[in-house]
Amino acid sequence: MSVKNNLNQLIEEIGNETTLVAVSKTKPSELIKEAYEAGHRNFGENKAREMQAKAEELPDDILWHFIGHLQTNKVKYIAPHVHLIHSIDSLKLLKEVNKRAANEDRIIKVLLQVYIAKEESKFGLDEEEVLGILESDEFQSLENIEVVGLMGMATNTENEETIRREFKSLTDFYNKLKDQYSLTVLSMGMSGDYQIALECGSNMLRIGSAIFGARDQH
Ligand SMILES: *Cc1c(COP(=O)(O)O)cnc(C)c1O
Repeated sequence: MSVKNNLNQLIEEIGNETTLVAVSKTKPSELIKEAYEAGHRNFGENKAREMQAKAEELPDDILWHFIGHLQTNKVKYIAPHVHLIHSIDSLKLLKEVNKRAANEDRIIKVLLQVYIAKEESKFGLDEEEVLGILESDEFQSLENIEVVGLMGMATNTENEETIRREFKSLTDFYNKLKDQYSLTVLSMGMSGDYQIALECGSNMLRIGSAIFGARDQH
């Protein structure tokens, strides 16, 4: 199977209402180029320096998605390049992104990462924390960021009911907020669970191994 065939098959399956982010973390630029030449533009990375290096090397019209845990001291490396940050998990991080976006004279779009999984997962906000941020005066004074939606990851399990329950809870929360806060993006679903995510209302998938093949641990 080639990257191009994998992409075309996925796009046929999910339709073009859903944004497909091809998660290229750990993969060489040659493979990204292959997908690019097949017409794909949305790519996802989870390390700031890796995104920076790839963005500097590859075509300017690529839309780079940052999907991994982001430390405040790394924001500066992605600020010139990133199209959408999926993984905002604190007001402190949001303020740093705002500052770096202002330095670049741009507005950076972001998603708030919501913790929905049962398993011990280190990152993400709970619903109360999301509301706390959106309602705060501090947040409302940030002029160089735009919160456009929510991101979540389900438990890594074979149990489809668990995954469905977790995705459903995020969809319900998203639907509660979307009109009031002008949210348009619900990012959920990876190679192993994207069909369930779509059934539950996702409109942005982050898919790596099903496009580029298995990764070494990273
Ligand atoms: C790696 C990663 C993905 C893609 O995972 P696959 O199982 O390879 O599709 C999606 N989202 C996040 C946050 C990731 O870190």
